[in-house]
Amino acid sequence: MTEHRSLPLHSLNHVSRETRDVDRLRDFYITVLGFRPAVRPNFSFKGHWLLLPHGYYLEDETWHLTKEGRPPGGALLMHIIQKDEQENLPEGPINTDSSYPDRPKAILRGHHLAFRTERMDDVEKILTERGIQFGKSIVPNTSVRQFFFFDPDTEMSKGPIRSLCPLKEIPTLSVGIIGGSLTGLTAALSLERLGVDCRVYERARESKRRGGGGIGVQDVTREDVDEALLPMRVQEEIDRNGRMIRQIPVPMWSAYWQDIDDLLLRNVKEDKVEYMHELIGLNQLENGKVELEFKSGEKREHDAVLACDGGASLVRDLMFPEHLMRFSGYVAWRGTVKTGSLSQSIMRHFCSEFSRNTLSFKISGRQHAVIYYLPPGDIINWIVYLPESEEKYVHRKEAASGMTKDATDEEIQQFLSQVKEVFSQSSLPDIIQSTDKPYKNMIYDSEPLPHLHKGKVLLMGDAAHYSTPHLVKGSNMAIQDGYWISEILERLLSHPHLSREEGLIERWFRIFEERRKRTTEDTVKLGKTRQGLMKEQKEDWDLNCTAKEFTDMAGDERANEE
Ligand SMILES: Cc1cc2nc3c(=O)[nH]c(=O)nc-3n(C[C@H](O)[C@H](O)[C@H](O)COP(=O)(O)OP(=O)(O)OC[C@H]3O[C@@H](n4cnc5c(N)ncnc54)[C@H](O)[C@@H]3O)c2cc1C
Repeated sequence: MTEHRSLPLHSLNHVSRETRDVDRLRDFYITVLGFRPAVRPNFSFKGHWLLLPHGYYLEDETWHLTKEGRPPGGALLMHIIQKDEQENLPEGPINTDSSYPDRPKAILRGHHLAFRTERMDDVEKILTERGIQFGKSIVPNTSVRQFFFFDPDTEMSKGPIRSLCPLKEIPTLSVGIIGGSLTGLTAALSLERLGVDCRVYERARESKRRGGGGIGVQDVTREDVDEALLPMRVQEEIDRNGRMIRQIPVPMWSAYWQDIDDLLLRNVKEDKVEYMHELIGLNQLENGKVELEFKSGEKREHDAVLACDGGASLVRDLMFPEHLMRFSGYVAWRGTVKTGSLSQSIMRHFCSEFSRNTLSFKISGRQHAVIYYLPPGDIINWIVYLPESEEKYVHRKEAASGMTKDATDEEIQQFLSQVKEVFSQSSLPDIIQSTDKPYKNMIYDSEPLPHLHKGKVLLMGDAAHYSTPHLVKGSNMAIQDGYWISEILERLLSHPHLSREEGLIERWFRIFEERRKRTTEDTVKLGKTRQGLMKEQKEDWDLNCTAKEFTDMAGDERANEE
C-alpha cells in the first residue's frame, strides 16, 4: 500500500457560526462574551469577524497577544456568517452531490473548522495524492487561497465539516538588517510578525548597552513600547526672566532611550540579533542576493538588506559616497539626575520653575535648555544647547568620530560656568552640578539623498534622514520606518497581481521611498529651521511660525499619508 504524506497544517484558524441574524449574534458575542471586532474582507455576503477577548496566536512557535483591528495571520478568529437560504448545512442532511466538489461556496458559508498552512502548494498535491476531492477559492482582494473538503463523517451523513483555510502565503524572503538599535529592532519585530526571516547584525559587543538619555515618543510610535512611557501633555516656553512665552498642548510621552531599546530587544527573538558583527562592505551579486562583509572576515548573503546603521551610516556612504553631513555649529550637553539625589532646596527651586508632565524650554538668547521628567517620574532629563563653532559640511567619517563625546572634567567645569552665566536665576546650574557624567552631542543633520534605496539595499532611520533633535522626532521617525517597512510588504503580498510580479523587493523599497522620503526630509528641514534659535539675529522664537510647525508635526504622520 502506498504511504501518503499528511497535510502541513500550522494552526487552527477560525471557527464559523452560521446564522440568520449576523448582527444579533455579533452583539451577543461582543457584549456577553467580550469578543472584539476584527476587520473582515469584503465578502459578497454579510458577516462579522471576531477576535477572542484575550486571544493569542501562534507565530513561529511563539504565542502573541492579538490586538483589535486587522487580525494577524495566525490569530484564531470566530466568523459569523449570514445563513445561505439556498443551502441546508449542517442542520439537514448534507447532499454531497450538490455542494461538493463543484460548489465550495456552500461549505464556505456553512459551519466549518478552518486550519492554516504556509505550504499551500503541498496541500493541493497531498489532497490529490490521497484522492480527496476539493473545491478552491480566493478571499476577495487578497492572494489568500482556500481549499474546501469534507471529512469522512460529513461525507457519510451529518457531522462537523472540515475545510482548510490557509491564511498567508509569505514567500521565503531573507532580510539582513544592519544595526540593532531602534530602527533595526522595530523593523525586525514587525517583519517577524509577518513571517519574514530576518537577521540583525550589530557591531556592539552585547545587547546591554548603556547609553542615551530621554526621548519624546509620539502617539503613533507607542504600540510596542507603551509600558516604558510617561505622559507629557504641555509644552512650555519660558524666557530667561521666568516669563511664560507660550504654552501649547503636545500629546507626547517621555521615555528612557535605553528602556525603549530594551523593550524592543525583548520582543525580537534573541537569536535573531548577532552582536560583534560590524559591517565593512556589501556587494549586490549577480545571483540577485546581497553579500554582507563583516570586520571578522565573515560573509553572509540575503535577498534584501535594510541599512539601519545610524546617522553616520557606512552603508549610506557606500551607496552615495559624495553625500556630506552638516555640523550645525552647536552642541547639546545632556544628562539625567534622580530627584531623590537632590537637596530639598534645589528641588523646591526646580519645582517652582518646571512642571511635571511638561516639555519645558528655557530660552536665553542664543542658548536654550530642554527639561522633562522620565519614567517612572523621579528622573529629570536635561539638555542644554550651546553654540560651538561655524556650521560646516563634513564627510561621515569625521562626523562619526565625534557625534557623542564623554566630556573631560575641564570641559564640564567650563560648561558649568557658561550655564551659571546664561541661566543665572535658574535651578539648572544646581541640577547640572548634581548630575553624574554629563555628556556632549555634536549636533548634525543630513542633506536630502537622491534615493533611499539602490537595488536591494534600503536606508532607514537615522541612516536615511538624520535630523537635529529640536522636533523630538529622530526616534519616532526611526520606529515609524520600522513599522512602515512591514506594512508595505504586507500590502504588497496581499495584492495578488503585485505579489506575483518580478522584482518584489525593488517594488517594496520603491514604495517605502515614496511613502517616507518626503515626510522625513521635511522633518529634517524643519529641524534645521529651529536652529534659528541659535542665531544671533533671532533672539526669540518666531511664535506664529513655530506654533503651526508644531501642530503639523505633532499630527499623526501615518494618518496624513493615508
Ligand atoms: C546609544 C545611543 C543613545 C541614544 N540616545 C538618544 C537620546 O537620548 N535621545 C534621542 O532623541 N536620541 C538618542 N539616540 C538617537 C536616537 O535614538 C536616534 O534618532 C534613533 O536611535 C535612530 O535609530 P537608528 O536605529 O536609526 O540609529 P541608531 O540608534 O544610531 O543605531 C544605529 C545602530 O547601528 C549600529 N551600527 C552602526 N554602524 C554599524 C556597522 N557598520 N555594522 C553593524 N552595526 C552598526 C550602531 O551600533 C547602532 O546600534 C541614541 C542613539 C544611540 C545609539
